[in-house]
Amino acid sequence: MGQQTRADLTEKIVTAVGEVVGNAERPVALHAPKFTDESMGNLRDCITTGWVSSGGAFVTEFENLTAAYTGAAHAIAVVNGTAALHAALRLAGVGRDDEVVMPALTFVATANAATYQHAIPHFADVEPATMGLDPAKLDARLETIGERRSDGLYNKQTNRRIAAIVPMHTFGHPVDIVGLLAVAEKHGVPIVEDAAESLGSTYRGRHTGTFGRIGILSYNGNKILTTGGGGMILTNDPELADEARHLTTTAKAPHPYEYVHDRAGFNYRMPNVNAAIGCAEMKQLDETVAAKRRLHARYAEVFADLDDIDLFTGPDHAECNCWLNAIVLAPGCAELRNPVIEALNEAKLQARPIWRPMHTLEMYRGCPADDLSVTMDLAARVINVPSSAYLA
Ligand SMILES: *Cc1c(COP(=O)(O)O)cnc(C)c1O
Repeated sequence: MGQQTRADLTEKIVTAVGEVVGNAERPVALHAPKFTDESMGNLRDCITTGWVSSGGAFVTEFENLTAAYTGAAHAIAVVNGTAALHAALRLAGVGRDDEVVMPALTFVATANAATYQHAIPHFADVEPATMGLDPAKLDARLETIGERRSDGLYNKQTNRRIAAIVPMHTFGHPVDIVGLLAVAEKHGVPIVEDAAESLGSTYRGRHTGTFGRIGILSYNGNKILTTGGGGMILTNDPELADEARHLTTTAKAPHPYEYVHDRAGFNYRMPNVNAAIGCAEMKQLDETVAAKRRLHARYAEVFADLDDIDLFTGPDHAECNCWLNAIVLAPGCAELRNPVIEALNEAKLQARPIWRPMHTLEMYRGCPADDLSVTMDLAARVINVPSSAYLA
């Protein structure tokens, strides 16, 4: 690619993104929330009644709405997605010195949650079709390094137990979860699903986060539905659900007045003010997802005509919530990634690269890892572009 065409492509990308966001006022954020009047009413209710903390009725209502929407038998609301993941790993049996298999291509929270449990992330590669864990490559990896013992699968190379596999649905695009479930079952390792980005995404009609032993959602400020901060634990197992509720509410034993705690639990329960927003915004979720899909379709249109750049559309087996749009430079054009990001930001169209792969971050450099060539290749070529629902 010559100097001239390079500048051309950068300019074409800026024009294309500008066309999609239309006459939105600049700067256009990567992702900005828009709240309904009902959220305001619910918040007023919290403040006038004094029910602002974790005892309020909105928390239970938000859990019920989420269980109904996702089809999970149980939903437990917590302070954020990272806390949900931390609790979920513990509930799945992850403990000190265990290994947790996860994609290297994820937000840092996935790895941090394992670290909080004194476990060690074990990084696996993703597949280009989903940008999520590659089941075939993971199976080959576990065949090579794994050894079944009485208490589970061990990594022969490190002599540590592999206690969980954590698939993540990148930008809302469902991973090949059925393929991964088969691999997990074959090797006897539970799946904890990081569905932080995929509220509203389904795999053959079934909601993401409900396939594994336990799954989590996030309501962080940039997610498809935000409660300011918040997270949800999903499970179909009633015993796990009870444990999740207990563990995330300081493990307090039921008693009319005594403070009896039967273990060192977490103070992770979602406050009522956050759940108040969640209850109101759940009613808009179908429309938000529809708007996101319209925006995605508009990006698909403008990028269809451009060479050397594609909109990431994800796999056919799934219905994506289209949370965050990603464009992917052609192989060989990776050197354009930063100039394109800079040109977009210059035009007040916020753009970002995908996360730095986890194994390249200082604190995770020494962790066990498979070949991560697809991860590294994608990381060099992916750019996220403005994706707020109000743009559609
Ligand atoms: C947002 C996110 C989380 C964590 O959620 P918080 O609510 O921000 O703690 C975890 N995993 C992934 C992949 C995320 O994108």
